[in-house]
Amino acid sequence: MNLLPLIEAKRDGRKLASDEVRQFVAALPALPDYQVAAFLMAIFFRGLDSEERAALTLAMRDSGDRLSFPPDPRPLVDKHSTGGVGDKVSLPLAPLLACLGFRVPMISGRGLGITGGTLDKLESIPGFTTALPAARITEVVQSVGCVICGQTDRMVPADKRLYALRDVTGTVPSIPLITASILSKKLAESLHALVLDVKFGCAAFMQTREQARELARAMVALGRDCGVNTRAVLTDMNTPLGRAAGNWLEVKESIACLEGRGPADLRELVVAFAAHLLVQTTQAVTLNEATQTAEACLASGAPRRKWDEMLAAQGADLDALRARLDHNFTAPAVTDIPAPQGGFVTRCDARIIGEVIRDLGGGRLTQDTVIQPAVGVDRLVKPGEQVKRGEALGRVHARNAAEAAAAVARLREAFAIAATPFAPAPLIAEVIAGN
Ligand code: URA
Repeated sequence: MNLLPLIEAKRDGRKLASDEVRQFVAALPALPDYQVAAFLMAIFFRGLDSEERAALTLAMRDSGDRLSFPPDPRPLVDKHSTGGVGDKVSLPLAPLLACLGFRVPMISGRGLGITGGTLDKLESIPGFTTALPAARITEVVQSVGCVICGQTDRMVPADKRLYALRDVTGTVPSIPLITASILSKKLAESLHALVLDVKFGCAAFMQTREQARELARAMVALGRDCGVNTRAVLTDMNTPLGRAAGNWLEVKESIACLEGRGPADLRELVVAFAAHLLVQTTQAVTLNEATQTAEACLASGAPRRKWDEMLAAQGADLDALRARLDHNFTAPAVTDIPAPQGGFVTRCDARIIGEVIRDLGGGRLTQDTVIQPAVGVDRLVKPGEQVKRGEALGRVHARNAAEAAAAVARLREAFAIAATPFAPAPLIAEVIAGN
């Protein structure tokens, strides 16, 4: 294929025919980097309309294997988050959804920079494997109801090529390219319904609520155009979700959530996403009714048992996990972050906390970083809460005392404390439904 006429057309602002977009994706393996990069830059500046976006997304989805599932009354659903600090929602959500009668082929990613990755969190569980072949993904989804694993090598290869080029050509922050990249991967799961957690705030990919809304609207419209019932929930990522961030610490907090303990904000999001999917798949009429159903299911203990079932199906050593929980397994050095004054917490900065955890070894600076699963922070106090001078604002878990002390010093900047009571903004800012 000669890509030059398409590059020139997009450079000059002409709409591409769906066939031209499909030919581009089909020819991608043979096209030189410099032409693909020029084409991406033309798209970055000129954009893609809804037809072009749908054609690109579906062609990318079809560039490799799609997961396939036998006919079954249980709808196939998933949740995707644009990423944040302490965002462990997928861990309790997958077994909750399976217990609500869904099938959940949750294909997840790894962390990069300050954003945690679901796969890294789960790999802190002894024996757990996130690399499953497509046939095993289908088998676990059919028998257990949920799986959380990585993308196979044969899924959406077009995104791998395009994303690698976008990363080095300044073309990542393009709404049409982001929506096609995310949705092509989700659509390869053959879903009936998808709920998107689009985060905004200092630790989010989209820093402002307006940017998050624009991305959410684009993804919801594209999901609908591609035949999947899609909803987006805009959530605040100025503060870490829950009271723990760091891979193993987040697994512990997820288990607490499944056991009816754990922080209220984590529980709020887990229940909300389950409720939206119940409404999207017409298993419930109102969000209120769906919320009650999801809460009752979580309280029943069934999702906690389902979690063990999913872990066992993915190779986890449940006895070793239980021993770690019982013996309070953690990193070698655990140090409090003392409050410099008493008062009401007005800020617990997710970006600073994410950066500190990354530098402790809990996140990646490059794709090859080896993750330290046990480092992180826990027992975080949240905006609106009151502390006395010297009380702990949280605890640092580090490889040694020197790294813990350095982290504590940096984390002082993450908190602000005022003399008067403070009411934090709601966690869920708005919902963008496909209709
Ligand atoms: N995440 C993705 O998977 N793709 C993008 O383009 C941006 C974020």
